[in-house]
Amino acid sequence: MIQVGINGYGTIGKRVADAVRAQPDMEVVGVAKTRPNFEASGAVDRGYDLYAAIEERKPLFAEAGIELAGDVEELIDASDIIVDACPSGIGADNAELYREYDTPALLQGGEDAEVVDSSFNARANYDTVEGDDLVRVVSCNTTGLSRLIAPLQEEYGIDKVRTTLVRRGGDPAQTGRGPINDIVPNPVTLPSHHGPDVNTIFPDLAIDTLGLKVPATLMHTHSVNVTLESQPDAGEVRDLLADQRRTFVIPDWVGIDGAGALKELAQDAGRPRADIWENCIWGESVSMEGNDLYLFQAIHQESDVVPENIDAIRAVLGTESQETSMELTDEAMDLDESLIPN
Ligand code: NAD
Repeated sequence: MIQVGINGYGTIGKRVADAVRAQPDMEVVGVAKTRPNFEASGAVDRGYDLYAAIEERKPLFAEAGIELAGDVEELIDASDIIVDACPSGIGADNAELYREYDTPALLQGGEDAEVVDSSFNARANYDTVEGDDLVRVVSCNTTGLSRLIAPLQEEYGIDKVRTTLVRRGGDPAQTGRGPINDIVPNPVTLPSHHGPDVNTIFPDLAIDTLGLKVPATLMHTHSVNVTLESQPDAGEVRDLLADQRRTFVIPDWVGIDGAGALKELAQDAGRPRADIWENCIWGESVSMEGNDLYLFQAIHQESDVVPENIDAIRAVLGTESQETSMELTDEAMDLDESLIPN
C-alpha cells in the first residue's frame, strides 16, 4: 500500500485525502493543519491522524480539544509521498523539508512551474514524471484545457488554441475574494498566465489565452476556439470528447444551462461535496467552421484536480501504467458513474 501524507487540509487537501482513502492501493498516513478549525475537527471525525504544521500552534489544538498525532516532520517521514495542498507559494517554501526527508512531493497549481521538476496532467503526460522529487499537478484551468487539447491534438493535429477563461471570483468559502459586482479583465494584458501554464504540459503548442473574473463562486467557464489541422465534422469531435475519461459532454435534452444547474445535477447524483471532477462540455456548443472548432466548457475548480493528484502519486512512484491508474482512480471515486442516470 502506498503511504500518502497530506500537508494542507483545505479545499483541495480534504478532497484529495478522501480520494486517496478510496483507492485500493493507497492509505492516508495523516493530514497536517496549521490551526484548529472546522476542517481540523472534520479530519479527526473522518478518522485521519492530524499533524501540526506549525509547532508553536500545538497548544491551540489542545485548547480546542483536538488530538494531534504528531508534527508535520513525522508525517513526512512516515509517508512514501506527500501531497502538498497548502496555499499558493507555501508549497515552494515546504520543498526544502520534503528534500530533507527524501520524500517526493506533489505541489499544486498555485506554485510556479520553475519550482518543480515537472508539471503533470494524467491524460497528457503521465509517463514523464516517474522518479521526480517535486511534481506540480497543474491548476484547475490548465487541467481542464489539457484534457481537451490532448485528444484533439492526437486525433486531428492542432494549429492554434485561443481561449477566453471566465473565472469565478473565489471559491464558495473564500469570503474575502471578489469581484462583488463587476466584470474584471484579469489580467488586462495578454496572454493571461494560463497559456504559458498549458505550455508546461504541451511545450510546442501555439496557445493564446485571455482571462476575466466575474462575481461567481460555482465554476469557471471556458470559451474555446481550436484551429485544427484537419476538418472533422462537429459530431465526430463530440463523440471523440465524449469517449474520453473525465469529460462529460452535456446532452442537449438535459436542460443544463449553466454552472448552477450543473451543481444541482451533481447534488442530485449524490456526488460528495457536489463535486464535478469532469470537464463539462456543452454538446450543443461543439461546432466546426472550416478548420475552427468552437465550444464552451465549465470546470469545477475545487475538484477537477483531485483525480489528477491520485494519478500523479502512481505516476511519480511508477507503480501503475497510465491506463490502469486512471481506471483505478475513476472506479474508486465513482467518477466513471455518469452524472445522468441511465
Ligand atoms: P485552501 O486555502 O482552501 O487550503 C489550504 C490549507 O492549507 C488551509 O487549510 C490552510 O490553513 C493550510 N495551510 C496554510 N499554511 C500551511 C502550512 N504552512 N502547512 C500546512 N498547511 C497550511 O487552499 P486551496 O484552495 O485548497 O489551494 C491549495 C493549492 O491548490 C493552491 O496551490 C491552489 O492554487 C491550488 N488549487 C486550488 C484550486 C481551488 O479552486 N481552490 C483549484 C486548483 C488548484
